[in-house]
Amino acid sequence: MSGSDFEYVRMMRLAIAEARKGVGLTRPNPPVGAVVADADGRIIGRGYHHGAGLPHAEVNAIADCGDVDLSGATVAVTLEPCSTHGRTPPCTDLLISRGVRRVVIGAIDPNPKHAGRGIGLLKDAGIEVVTGVGERECKELIAPFASAMTRHRPHVTLKLAMTLDGRIADRNGTSKWITSAASRSFVQRLRKGADAIMVGSGTAIADNPSLLCKARGRAGRAWRVVADASGRIPASLALVTDKFADRTIIATTDDGAKRLSRTLPEGPSVWTIGRADDGRIDLERLLERLTEEHDVMELLCEGGGKLAGSLLKGGFVDRLVLFYAPAIMGDDRASPAFSGVDNLLADSRLAVAARTIRTFGPDFAVVLDLL
Ligand SMILES: [Zn+2]
Repeated sequence: MSGSDFEYVRMMRLAIAEARKGVGLTRPNPPVGAVVADADGRIIGRGYHHGAGLPHAEVNAIADCGDVDLSGATVAVTLEPCSTHGRTPPCTDLLISRGVRRVVIGAIDPNPKHAGRGIGLLKDAGIEVVTGVGERECKELIAPFASAMTRHRPHVTLKLAMTLDGRIADRNGTSKWITSAASRSFVQRLRKGADAIMVGSGTAIADNPSLLCKARGRAGRAWRVVADASGRIPASLALVTDKFADRTIIATTDDGAKRLSRTLPEGPSVWTIGRADDGRIDLERLLERLTEEHDVMELLCEGGGKLAGSLLKGGFVDRLVLFYAPAIMGDDRASPAFSGVDNLLADSRLAVAARTIRTFGPDFAVVLDLL
């Protein structure tokens, strides 16, 4: 790498840190960050996209520079600048009109209609364009957006907390708490980035979870989804009675909807989704509808084992976050982390694109991105 390559990587790191401030807030747009450096490499502006309808990262970073001449400046941005009129004017126009010297880009726009267009316009205007800097992290930042854009369904993260022998609840159904407070605070970070948080009806009944994000100002922002084919959840659950009950969706079948219409209080929405071939909720349809109707880009599923099994079997899991506590139940009656997949050894291997292992207090977590 040359000296300037290091400089671009350094700038992109800062741009990524800016982008992270917007994670979970920008739906249906992706989180994007940008920084501006002057001809001597001094950072003179930073910015990120705060939310739909608000200025893009490049606009905020350039505004942060004030009135200075940008003719020698380099702008690093995590995503290819937009080139079409959306709710705001195109950022390519701004970069060209301010006469910046160079634009360093992390990820290309995943929208096939726009991909590469912004780069072409900048180059035509005589601006030097450097692509692929910090690309892996920049692509990861926009994976939920890219999923909604190209697959019309959310990026799905499946999180489960289990013992070393793969059990998520004991034979009495007790699952609070298998993992430590340190692990659970990381789960709060996952919730912060999610547009919807889903559990199966068994988990909703056994744990009565609120599924709320505890971060300031975030409670009630994400949709809460319960997959409940038979419509069996009781009206007493926090999810359907608390002050965010209108942010709860019960996904069910015709029969389930009839039952729920008699039992549920006002507030939560009931979606009649229908069954897949395995008799369980049609998850493909549910995921599509969440993106269609509510712009859900990132869905976090927090169990239980049956829903985890259905998601895995259907090929809907993009990222697995598996927490392991140093504990063993060794009891066939305890609930397994995944059920109903019924793989033989020959079929059981996952196609893994990336993997990391992290420790949280006494626990460790395996993070796998699936192909
Ligand atoms: Zn833009």
